Amino acid sequence: MKTIKFNVKTTAHTQMIDITREVQEAVTASCVTDGICTVFIPHTTAAVTINENADPDVVRDFTMEINKIVPWEDGYHHMEGNSAAHLKASMIGFSEQIIVEDGRLVLGTWQGIYFCEYDGPRTRKVFVKI
Ligand code: ZN
Repeated sequence: MKTIKFNVKTTAHTQMIDITREVQEAVTASCVTDGICTVFIPHTTAAVTINENADPDVVRDFTMEINKIVPWEDGYHHMEGNSAAHLKASMIGFSEQIIVEDGRLVLGTWQGIYFCEYDGPRTRKVFVKI
């Protein structure tokens, strides 16, 4: 099965974007009904995670707290000036795996798949393999 790719256009420096619909569309396009879906982010300053998609304040709090844990300025050495983004991306991680059953992503009732931008705004890529 070919790797399916799609773009995410981020609009803020730090941002979480729900990509559940796009990932489900990739699963549907693959015609795979039972298997494992891997979502992979081919960037060093962006990540992917699964978390609550019911209350938008969860994402707001998540973003607020991760910016406290890893401040943008902290005497970093990296010349590009975006060490905080590299750190946050590795902390959250570059891939997620989701079970596919009957052609559908098996997610909990309140779960969504989030693309996490840490050095935006940019146009980013997401790879999906089922
Ligand atoms: Zn850098």
